[in-house]
Amino acid sequence: MIRSFSRLSTRVSLPTASRAFSAEVETSWTDAWNAATENMKSNITFEESAEILRNLTKTDLLRATDLRDSPSRFFEAHRILARHAVEHGPGFWIRFTVHYNLFAGTIVAAGDEEQVSRLADYQAAGELGCFGLTEKLAGVQSGLVVQTTATYDEASDEFILDTPNEGARKNWISQGFVADKAVVLADLIVKGESKGPHAFVMDFRSSGSLVPGVKIDDMGSKTVGNDLDNAWIDFENVRLPKDSMLRRYAEIVDGEYIIKGDVRPFDMIGQRLYTGRIAVAQAALEYRRALFSKTKSYSDSKKMFAFSGEPVLSEIPQLEALYEENEERLGRLDEYVGDCEAALSEVLKEGGTPDTRLVDCIATAKVKAVEDSIEMVHRLRQEVGSFALMADAGFKHTDFLQCCKFAEGDSRILMSKIARDRLRLVEKGQDMDSEEGKQALGLAMAMKGHLVKGASKQEAWDKEWKGVYELAETVMDRVMTDGPTV
Ligand SMILES: Cc1cc2nc3c(=O)[nH]c(=O)nc-3n(C[C@H](O)[C@H](O)[C@H](O)COP(=O)(O)OP(=O)(O)OC[C@H]3O[C@@H](n4cnc5c(N)ncnc54)[C@H](O)[C@@H]3O)c2cc1C
Repeated sequence: MIRSFSRLSTRVSLPTASRAFSAEVETSWTDAWNAATENMKSNITFEESAEILRNLTKTDLLRATDLRDSPSRFFEAHRILARHAVEHGPGFWIRFTVHYNLFAGTIVAAGDEEQVSRLADYQAAGELGCFGLTEKLAGVQSGLVVQTTATYDEASDEFILDTPNEGARKNWISQGFVADKAVVLADLIVKGESKGPHAFVMDFRSSGSLVPGVKIDDMGSKTVGNDLDNAWIDFENVRLPKDSMLRRYAEIVDGEYIIKGDVRPFDMIGQRLYTGRIAVAQAALEYRRALFSKTKSYSDSKKMFAFSGEPVLSEIPQLEALYEENEERLGRLDEYVGDCEAALSEVLKEGGTPDTRLVDCIATAKVKAVEDSIEMVHRLRQEVGSFALMADAGFKHTDFLQCCKFAEGDSRILMSKIARDRLRLVEKGQDMDSEEGKQALGLAMAMKGHLVKGASKQEAWDKEWKGVYELAETVMDRVMTDGPTV
């Protein structure tokens, strides 16, 4: 398999978004990945798109374990694919990240050595995996709410995977119509007691057909990315062998549930959300960069009427100012997200978990990169006339940014958590003298005002929702200024 790239073309495409990558990874790998992915197609079927991914994984250019062993390759691969989204939409990028980050990455993070070693076999066979976390009722709160159950059956030494009600159906699962394997998050039940969400890797299809007890259907047509299959999934008493449970941090031994070490299994599964957040943040920035670049090529050559001179559209003052503003904002976000990638990569290589500071930085990176891109792309669309309507201009795929908004941590959910953590400091009487501290204290007092009038905590929170998001904005601005390293 190809792992040496020196023979390949020397066409250079140095990464723009990651200083960490350029310092560390050979350019020839980037060239090879660029070459392997440059023939992405538009308007293909989901089966054709899945076949492209099968073939791409078989080249071995990006190994399932590179996320741990060579994170810079993993992130650069995502960035290169995100650039294709302007022309071809987001379907393939989502398919790719679901397979490499969510499916394979969860096995790398939470599987033991033997389970991780199987990834090489899947890769050699071009087998694809899906990742079943989101449930219908949980929506963006997936992970917090997991109703699917995996009940340990002592008699057979197996797990029984079940969807107890319609709200617990796995929802929006990418590659649900093509995946050979699945990582499924389910509440582990042992001796009638819930042990919380755990990950199970299972055969999803056998000889091309769904395994018995698995039912799927299509989520329906989307505004973008219809080359990606999205399914809801229902499990009816599906029997899983004992070694399906990812067992690096917890296991069933002699019928008993054993936790190994001091890491909760779900915390390691949650690790995928951190790598995913960086990948999504960079995807939003890459899509925006490519769209601005394409649009600028057009406006640079679009001649305008004038009584004197020969101006082009790019020289119209509001558009010129927008291009300048975009360069400045994009540059700052590139640098910040690149710093977060570098810090997270160190943690991944050591097999650890990010500290609170890095977790906040990554959440901020994701929210800021996505929301800033949504704003700037929307403003660009308002300033370039009919070009924005043209089918091949790239604006028709802007719903990619909507996908980025709720994938791997919805903006509102991340911001709520940031504000909640800041309010906790106030409750402990910590750090209240800064402007941020005073803002947090003001919000806490406003909520208390509702509580003394008999409101519940949730009602008080809901009444002050604007203050919640304003506080989160203040914290994120400070976090961005401070950066991920002390
Ligand atoms: C193309 C695509 C591919 C996907 N692939 C996968 C996959 O492979 N595997 C997987 O597990 N999942 C996948 N998902 C699911 C995805 O990650 C989201 O979890 C899911 O789309 C949430 O959608 P929802 O409409 O149910 O959100 P809802 O929960 O209905 O939320 C709607 C909006 O309400 C707001 N909101 C909701 N709850 C709160 C709250 N408590 N506080 C504040 N605001 C709130 C948020 O702004 C949110 O955007 C995919 C989704 C899409 C669209």
